Amino acid sequence: MTKIALIGAGLSGLTAATLLKDHAEITLFEKSRGVGGRMATRRADPYAFDHGASFFHPKTDAFKKFLAPLIAEDVVQPWEARFVEIENRHIKSQQLWTAAHPHYVGVPGMNAVGKYLGQSLTVKTGLHVHALAKTGDGWSLQDEQGHILGAYDWVLCALPAEQATALLPPSLPLSADVKAVKMQGCFTVMLGFSQALPLPFEAALIHGEDVARVSVESSKPGRSDPFCLLLHANSAWADAHMEDDRAQILTHLCAEASAILGQDLSKADHQALHRWRYASLEKQEGAPYFIDAAAKIGVCGDWFLQGRVEAAFTSGMHLAHDLLEKLRHG
Ligand SMILES: Cc1cc2nc3c(=O)[nH]c(=O)nc-3n(C[C@H](O)[C@H](O)[C@H](O)COP(=O)(O)OP(=O)(O)OC[C@H]3O[C@@H](n4cnc5c(N)ncnc54)[C@H](O)[C@@H]3O)c2cc1C
Repeated sequence: MTKIALIGAGLSGLTAATLLKDHAEITLFEKSRGVGGRMATRRADPYAFDHGASFFHPKTDAFKKFLAPLIAEDVVQPWEARFVEIENRHIKSQQLWTAAHPHYVGVPGMNAVGKYLGQSLTVKTGLHVHALAKTGDGWSLQDEQGHILGAYDWVLCALPAEQATALLPPSLPLSADVKAVKMQGCFTVMLGFSQALPLPFEAALIHGEDVARVSVESSKPGRSDPFCLLLHANSAWADAHMEDDRAQILTHLCAEASAILGQDLSKADHQALHRWRYASLEKQEGAPYFIDAAAKIGVCGDWFLQGRVEAAFTSGMHLAHDLLEKLRHG
C-alpha cells in the first residue's frame, strides 16, 4: 500500500486523511497536543471557549454529506442563536438562526469535530515536522531535533500558508505563490462571569470597531458552563497590533466591547487572551489545492479558498480526490 505522510491535523488534513485512509497507509503528524487546528476549544474551568472558529454554515452538498454522520451522532449541532449586526453602536439588523438554515458548532466544543475524525486515523500529536527531504522516489520527514520521522511515498501538507512556506522545497512551482499569501491575524478575548449579562443576542457582528465579533459561548448547544463571552478582534486591527503588550490588548478590547454593549466586561471573573498569528484570509481565486505527481507532494488548506471551515474541508476533499485518481492509475 502507498505510504503517505500528512502534516497538519486541522480540518483540511483530517478531511483528506478520512477520504484516503481506505486506499493508502496514512500517518498524520500534528505539532499540537490535540487535533482540529483552528477548530479549537480552550477550557478554563468552569468555562469553555471556542477560541478559533465560532460556527460554520455549510453551503455545498459535499460538505453537508461529510457532516451527516457527525450530525447523526450529535458531534455537530445547530446553534439557535439570536444574531445581530451592530453599527455606530446600535443594532442595525437582527435575525434568528434556526435549524432550517443551520449554523453549526461542535458539541460539547468545536474541537469535538477534530476528535471525532481523528479517532479513525493514525495521528502522531506533539510532533513538529521541521524538514522534508526528497529520498529517491519518496520523502523523509525530520523533527526539530533532526530525528527521522519515517520514509513515505507521498507527503501532503495541510498547514496555514506561512507554515507551509517553511516546509515546502523552494524548487516546487507552488513555493513562490505560497510565499505571497498573507493570512490575517486575530486576537480572541475569553471572559467568564459568575452571573449572566442581559444581552439581546448570542452572536454579534460589529462594523467599524476594533472588536469585530462577540459570541455568548455558554449559549451554544451541549454547554453546561456558566455565562461566558468571547470577543474576536477586527483582523486589520489585530495585524497592526500583533506584537503589542497582551495585557494592554485585553484591556483595550474589553473597554471597547463594554462601551458597545453597555456592560462592564472588566468585572469578568475569568479573563484571557489568545493571539492567532494566522487566523483567516479573504476569498481567493484559483485552484483549491496543489499536487505534483512527479514529486509526489500535495498541499491543501483553507487559504487556497478563504479563511473558513468549509474552505478547509473543500480544499482537503479536492486534494484527496485527485490523489485517489493518481493512485488508481498508478
Ligand atoms: C479566531 C478565528 C476565528 C474563526 N472563525 C471562523 C468562523 O466563525 N467560521 C469559519 O468557518 N471559520 C472560522 N475561522 C477559520 C477556520 O478555523 C479555518 O478556516 C479552518 O479551521 C482551517 O483549517 P485548516 O486545516 O486549513 O488549518 P488549521 O486548522 O490551521 O490546521 C493546520 C494544522 O497544522 C498544524 N501544524 C502547523 N505546522 C506544523 C508542522 N510543522 N508540523 C506539524 N503540524 C503542524 C497546526 O498545529 C494545525 O493543527 C476562524 C479562525 C480563527 C483563528
